[in-house]
Amino acid sequence: MKLFLSSDGFLTRTQFKQLVGKEYKDANVGLIMNATDWMKSSEKKTRLDEVRERFERIDIKPELLDLRRFYNKTPESLLKKLQQYDLNMSIKKILIGLAVFILVGAGIYYYLNREEVPTVVVEVEEPEYVSEDNYSPESFEVIGRSVENRSIRAFKFGTGNKKLVFVGAIHGGYEWNTALLSYELIDYLADNIEIIPSDIEVTVIPVANPDGLYKAVGTSGRFFAGDAPQFDYANETTLNDLLARGRFNANDVDLNRNFDCKWQSDAVWRNYDVSGGAKVFSEPEALALRDFFLREAPEAVVLFHSASNGVYTSFCEGDALPGTEDSLTVYSEASGYARYDNYSYYEVTGDIGDWLSTINTPAITVELSSHRAIDWEKNRTGIEAMFEFYSDN
Ligand SMILES: [Zn+2]
Repeated sequence: MKLFLSSDGFLTRTQFKQLVGKEYKDANVGLIMNATDWMKSSEKKTRLDEVRERFERIDIKPELLDLRRFYNKTPESLLKKLQQYDLNMSIKKILIGLAVFILVGAGIYYYLNREEVPTVVVEVEEPEYVSEDNYSPESFEVIGRSVENRSIRAFKFGTGNKKLVFVGAIHGGYEWNTALLSYELIDYLADNIEIIPSDIEVTVIPVANPDGLYKAVGTSGRFFAGDAPQFDYANETTLNDLLARGRFNANDVDLNRNFDCKWQSDAVWRNYDVSGGAKVFSEPEALALRDFFLREAPEAVVLFHSASNGVYTSFCEGDALPGTEDSLTVYSEASGYARYDNYSYYEVTGDIGDWLSTINTPAITVELSSHRAIDWEKNRTGIEAMFEFYSDN
């Protein structure tokens, strides 16, 4: 029920019909009266009763009483105002309804959403040195630890009984590209496991000297070549250059002088005096490698170094093992690296490859062509030739 106000009191039925388009009783829209007079009237009650008598239902909304300012309008203009008012009220209701709908909807949404997200307690077992690379701890074996307690890791691929082992970075940061080559090999084998014959097992130890690598590169795990230091290898003049470049372990021992073949504490690298350690296998890294090789007894071992650009033999007393000769032939012919059956530049003592020959394990040294390149295609070809040679399949 709406209250229509007019400037001239009650409308006649005719006027009402003209204005509203319906009869009083059918319209169900109310009455029109002079609001100002009505509000002021001492006869308000009487007039209201009169209204009630004439209309069955009346609901005088307070806000409509503000329409009294239209008391002197014509019925037509008044109706227009009232219609505008009704329209505004409808819009207001729609907007309020919409706002309520949105608020309720949002509330329901967030409530349901909250219910759908269960509270999960994740127990994270944090592996040691987890930040050093992306491998899960299950995918490699820690064969030992460095002087500074960094892990020495062995990554295995394949399940055959003939074992081939590849070792990088025994000279740490000084030969960081051998670590990158080893990681490249790990990734390649992980992505192409089918190239390993069924009777072959491959182990890659990418960083035999993690403290030395860390000293130069700032990590003992994975890194990019672009993040490795740019040493001026051509102009190194002091032992401190070698120390700073992480050639040795954290005890300043050259690990490749600490093994049990012609061992000397006072060792030599080119024209430098380097430490071979206080005794044979005095260094934890050398001990870890020794125990690993004694346990595994591989068919052949490939030791990555840089950068003398060639494949080199190994022997302690007497001749190289037949398996060493075979590996030299296979790797050099497949890769294209020059073959060297002797290392006559200076007296090498305590070398890991030479020690391996004393436990009847053939070993060759692959010297990369520079201190930066990993010579991937050459080495991939050489490595796959080794797989083929040592497999009976
Ligand atoms: Zn080296």
